[in-house]
Amino acid sequence: MTSPNPSDLTRNALPGILGLEAYTPGMPIDELQRRLGVADVIKLASNESPLGMSPRAREALAATIARDNLALYPDGSGYRLKQKIAAYHGIAADRITLGNGSNDILEFLARIYAGPGRAVMFSDYAFAVYPIATEAQNAEAVRVPAFPPDHAMPYGHDLKAFRRALRERPDVSLVFVANPNNPTGTWVPPDEILAFLEAVPPHVIVALDEAYWDYQDVALRPDARPWLDRFPNLVVTRTFSKIYGIAGLRAGYALSHATVADLLNRVRQPFNNNSLALLAAELALDDQDHVRQSVDLNTRERERLHRKLVAMGLRVLPSQANFVTVGFERDAKPIHQGLLERGIIVRPMGSYAMPEFLRVTVGTERENGRFLSALSDILRL
Ligand SMILES: *Cc1c(COP(=O)(O)O)cnc(C)c1O
Repeated sequence: MTSPNPSDLTRNALPGILGLEAYTPGMPIDELQRRLGVADVIKLASNESPLGMSPRAREALAATIARDNLALYPDGSGYRLKQKIAAYHGIAADRITLGNGSNDILEFLARIYAGPGRAVMFSDYAFAVYPIATEAQNAEAVRVPAFPPDHAMPYGHDLKAFRRALRERPDVSLVFVANPNNPTGTWVPPDEILAFLEAVPPHVIVALDEAYWDYQDVALRPDARPWLDRFPNLVVTRTFSKIYGIAGLRAGYALSHATVADLLNRVRQPFNNNSLALLAAELALDDQDHVRQSVDLNTRERERLHRKLVAMGLRVLPSQANFVTVGFERDAKPIHQGLLERGIIVRPMGSYAMPEFLRVTVGTERENGRFLSALSDILRL
């Protein structure tokens, strides 16, 4: 192979792409096994469900794989899954768009609404995919300062600041709001989201990313369904990766006005959901008992983790998600490394400009116990 002049390969790449850094995912279990030779590894790094998918979905998948050679393309319209989602939310099927994970939807939105001369707004300390999707479109990212560390909702979204920033920036075409937010776990009360929607000009698309919606206490979580009828510029995204436990299959969706759904479907790959993901998502949505079990485990264990970590003298950000973000008041890298050596993968926050924090997914009682004792060992408590 001739060795190319590297500048030939980058010269015509779009400037937004050249400025990007690839997303750093949580370390896979077998990578740690390979790197450190640790046998018994647990992963609390990517906010996956410790109970996994509905047992009914698992059985149906196994039967499908045994019976079907998967030679046929999936149903590109996702008809059956959309019918289930439509019934679950009480919404017309033509207002649903399916994504290969909700990440897919976030990128569709950027592809439709972002570009040179159009800006995209999101908070500091928000989900890493927002800047990637924005910059890949050569659009400008407008980062809104988050609440300060000593606020009741530290590092959380400040929607009043979003409103002020929107008045300064008429070029903003798309706004991302994660509620609850990743990587902080913080949330915005429903009345503040509503006040924000009322203030946003109708041509600015608001993507309300509800990846962690199910984990919120019932009293704290918004019902965005009526807002979708009042605000045609609202897009709500949900995922099957978190509470439904099928992150490995990739499925998510958006609820929106039918006109926006039509635009989303124009940029969607015709077969963006594979057959197994469609089937598993359908069955997962049906099994709300499994959802309740997963929520109950998370609520109980999130509370316990919070309490035990605070008792260790650590700072724990308030969380309504399936993870806790823990502050050490010093660079958390050595602690991250110490946990890896003990077979526990958590998420370092350096790439989120929060190097003193680690994000820890709420696992099973046994997994959380193992994390807590490894941590107290490292901190020599
Ligand atoms: C995990 C997560 C998603 C969902 O990702 P998928 O592509 O659906 O797996 C979306 N938004 C946020 C804020 C997340 O943390």
